Amino acid sequence: MAMRTSLSISRKFLHPRRSLSSSRPANADVTHAVIGAGVVGLAVARELASREGTSTILLERHDAPGTETSSRNSEVIHAGLYYGVDTLKTKLCIKGKEMMYDLCARNGLPHRNTKKWIVAQTEEQWAAALKTHEHAQKIGVPTRLIGRAEAQALEPEVQALAGIVESPTTGIVDSHSLMTYLQGDFEDRGGDCAFLTNVTGIEALNGGKNGYRITAVTSDGTETSITAETLVNSAGNYACYINNMVLPPERHRTPYYAKGTYFSYAASFPKTSVLVYPATLPGHGGLGTHLTLDLGGRIRFGPDVEWVDDPNDLVPSPARLQQALREIKTYLPNVDPEAISLDYCGIRPKLERGGAVNTGKGFQDFIIQEEEGFPGFINLLGIESPGLTSSLAIGEMVKGLLYGRK
Ligand SMILES: Cc1cc2nc3c(=O)[nH]c(=O)nc-3n(C[C@H](O)[C@H](O)[C@H](O)COP(=O)(O)OP(=O)(O)OC[C@H]3O[C@@H](n4cnc5c(N)ncnc54)[C@H](O)[C@@H]3O)c2cc1C
Repeated sequence: MAMRTSLSISRKFLHPRRSLSSSRPANADVTHAVIGAGVVGLAVARELASREGTSTILLERHDAPGTETSSRNSEVIHAGLYYGVDTLKTKLCIKGKEMMYDLCARNGLPHRNTKKWIVAQTEEQWAAALKTHEHAQKIGVPTRLIGRAEAQALEPEVQALAGIVESPTTGIVDSHSLMTYLQGDFEDRGGDCAFLTNVTGIEALNGGKNGYRITAVTSDGTETSITAETLVNSAGNYACYINNMVLPPERHRTPYYAKGTYFSYAASFPKTSVLVYPATLPGHGGLGTHLTLDLGGRIRFGPDVEWVDDPNDLVPSPARLQQALREIKTYLPNVDPEAISLDYCGIRPKLERGGAVNTGKGFQDFIIQEEEGFPGFINLLGIESPGLTSSLAIGEMVKGLLYGRK
């Protein structure tokens, strides 16, 4: 039978520290517990650890950070073009992008400001691309139209029959280097990572007024517990389960999953130096089978959108290849189909089935909030793209929710 002990890591936190506020408990093991060491949990934990006189623990069930969605994405630093003016996705993406470029430049983290082209092949797609361009002007994100002659000179292999909108601030980042940096900086700030620690239960003590008791099972099957003054749910595809451990049944949530398969490209021709995205029509669940680059300049295509029932359904879907190939050929007609292979896939945490990626019907914004009636419990739900880009800004926002703006 599993033994109930206190997390051994908690002992080092048993030192005097300042409470968050007079209404928050001062006798918990730690000030902040963050569940989930993906890029967002790492960024949040790092930000909270910078608060003087506090202690922060990051609980992660795997043996290393970022082994789920944070290492299964396109690694694009998004510009923030696609979402409504007042959405968190717009605000946090734009802020996060600036913070990301700055952090990467200051710390020598591999990244590149590649730029991105939104390419339209039909009048309908061109109308959608122009809408994105107009919207970008409204929210202060630079975009410009590229004429046929310029396009031919810059990227002769890219086809855009109806027009091109360029996003000059889009780029790519090595997400693994970023996460390694965030973990190191978090620990330098006094934070602690508890790996192989699977959170299985949460008790809101006196409705959260006295903090939260978190129960977890470690790799050897030992059940442990720790108390925290505040709790951040950054569990990615499993965030709804954590939500349901804390909130009453009428506030439970059902998770949905949109899988995206990637395809690698082994040939050195055709080449591009920019990222290429087909113009998306409202209501699409992703950004189309686009072309992104890694820092070595290698092309990969994807991800597409496939609704699945299991967040562990991580085998790339061969059936998707023909559809992807049709989409790829529209903007890269000389692509060699023989050089395209199935690569990897990632799963987007969705809060509704069939939700749109941009402002179309069913758009779902990030949910980042302190839950009503549960003081100090910060829920992060639906942190799909642009979550990587927004991660540093999400960290700042969570700190603001707990402590007020600077
Ligand atoms: C196909 C795809 C492409 C994308 N492309 C981009 C892109 O180009 N640019 C961009 O900005 N964003 C992109 N995103 C979004 C981005 O990858 C995510 O928003 C981001 O990685 C989410 O990070 P996270 O920390 O919230 O979640 P995750 O990386 O999923 O981390 C959650 C962590 O919580 C842990 N966990 C869960 N439950 C428990 C538990 N009970 N106990 C302990 N630990 C637990 C998990 O093990 C995991 O490590 C993409 C996403 C997908 C799926």
